[in-house]
Amino acid sequence: MNRVLLTATWNFGRLAVERAFNMLELGASALDALETGINAVEMDESVQSVGYGGLPNRAGYVELDAAIMDARGHRSGAVAALRGFRRPISVARRVMEVLPHALLVGEGAAEFAREQGFEEEETLSPEASEQWLQWRETQAPPADVEDSHDTVGMIIWTPDTIVVGCSTSGLKWKYPGRVGDSPIVGAGLYADEEVGAAVATGNGDEISRVALCSRVVFLMERGMSAQEACDEAIRYLMRKRTDASGTPPHAAVLAVRADGNFGVSASYAKFPYALHDGQSLTMGEREALEPE
Ligand code: ASP
Repeated sequence: MNRVLLTATWNFGRLAVERAFNMLELGASALDALETGINAVEMDESVQSVGYGGLPNRAGYVELDAAIMDARGHRSGAVAALRGFRRPISVARRVMEVLPHALLVGEGAAEFAREQGFEEEETLSPEASEQWLQWRETQAPPADVEDSHDTVGMIIWTPDTIVVGCSTSGLKWKYPGRVGDSPIVGAGLYADEEVGAAVATGNGDEISRVALCSRVVFLMERGMSAQEACDEAIRYLMRKRTDASGTPPHAAVLAVRADGNFGVSASYAKFPYALHDGQSLTMGEREALEPE
């Protein structure tokens, strides 16, 4: 196959990258491959932070966020706080393809999904429901708020295409209507045909506050390598948002420059990601960036 690079967040990124790579080998477009890869994680019930099987908000409803961006033509589509549909990345893609809008939320997003023929389904899995019922007894905040979420984010690069997408159920027990970074262009993902793309995971409230992915792409535009840009953007987040106890927000970012140069950075230890260079798939583990 021609030169290609695929990368995705977390251990479940392996599934997304494997599926996407298979699609590319069959001749699919990068967008189709990206959607299929992310769908695989959305439909995996054992992943409790993405799609079906994701943990619900405090009211017991699973509200899903997703976005997709095609660097060519600078097109994007996103949905947020979507209830009742298991594959929000596919709805986000449809927003990109048929609407003039960049983001639909809540009931409007669900109405659009219905109108487009997506099947309305139960999104709360029995296991997620069980965990929510237990949580409801105490209503305790997650013991470690930083460990209560994870987004599947993926970038596919070829010499003439860059596509990026992400999908998540967000922070568990979140306030109804809470929207994280994932469906926000510039925060959870960003792509520019001439520069490259970035995708983030971690504490979405904090990632949004610093528009993390647009910063990564901007830094690459100013001449940095993907690695330098990821490190610098994560340092910026740590500088701006480390709390009084000295703990930086959890965040990790993957980036690919328009020439195929790859970078990854994280504010905390052992961030796993999948990387496929067209020959083989490897799982990497990024150590925490040292504060300045
Ligand atoms: N960024 C996502 C959110 O806050 C969750 C994650 O990536 O861990 O909604």
